[in-house]
Order: sequence, then C-alpha cells, then structure tokens
Amino acid sequence: MGRIPTASELTKRGVVLEVLTCPMCNEYEEGYDHVLVDCSYARRVLEGVSRWCNIQLGPLHTVKDVLDSISQWGVCKKRRKIILAIFYGTLWSLWKSRNEKVFKKIRLPPDKVNDIIKSVVYLWVKNRGKIDKLNWASWSHCPLFY
Ligand SMILES: [Zn+2]
Repeated sequence: MGRIPTASELTKRGVVLEVLTCPMCNEYEEGYDHVLVDCSYARRVLEGVSRWCNIQLGPLHTVKDVLDSISQWGVCKKRRKIILAIFYGTLWSLWKSRNEKVFKKIRLPPDKVNDIIKSVVYLWVKNRGKIDKLNWASWSHCPLFY
C-alpha cells in the first residue's frame, strides 16, 4: 500500500534524504517493491521460502505479484491460509532485516532470515491457526505437510 517508510516513500512525503539507494544491495532506489521482492537480497530469501514450502512461484517483481500468486495457490483453504501467513511473515521479516541494516548496520544472511521466518510464522500459525497437529519438526521440514 506504499505505507512503509522506504527512501522512495519518504521522499514523496517531503523528507530529504542523502541516500535513496537500497541498503541491502546498494544498486537500485529503495522502493517497497524493490526492498521486499525485487532486490537480489529479497530474491534469495523468497527462493529459500519457496524451497522450504516446496512450491514454485511465477516471476515476482512486486508485492502485488507475491500476494496475487499466493492467494490463488492450491485448492486446500487451510494450506492456502498457511502459505499466505508464511509470505506475510516473509515480507515482515524482510522489512525487519532491512531495518537491522539501516539502524544497526547488521546485515543478516538470507539463510538466517529464512530461519527467522520459519520460527516466527510457526508461532503465528501455532497460536492463532488452531492446528493441533502442527509440530516444529514437520513444520521446519515442510510447513504444508503437517
Ligand atoms: Zn536492493
């Protein structure tokens, strides 16, 4: 929705910044679609999530692409809700990772972000999803076969 304060969005709101480039790749202007999906860093995280879930997604360049792709995935509503939670968690974790880089100068490796996504979304789904059979061992192996 363009509400997260990326460099591009802050500039639109009249904030003057010295640097507009993405803090994760230092190559492109930092818009929300770039930092959350199109950045090489975000792509590595998204590839890790796709591998973990054992799903293939089409070409993704925007947040809308991700959410459109996920909202039509599979036929099982329960699994679709889980995969949606995983990708919300992925976007959330990418933003938090970007903030770690900007504010603490810490660049988390993409594999570490994938580990964070697994544990954060596990807790979300376990506590809010009402799936009794869910356990960490099967979740961390593949979240869609519990
Ligand atoms: Zn980037």
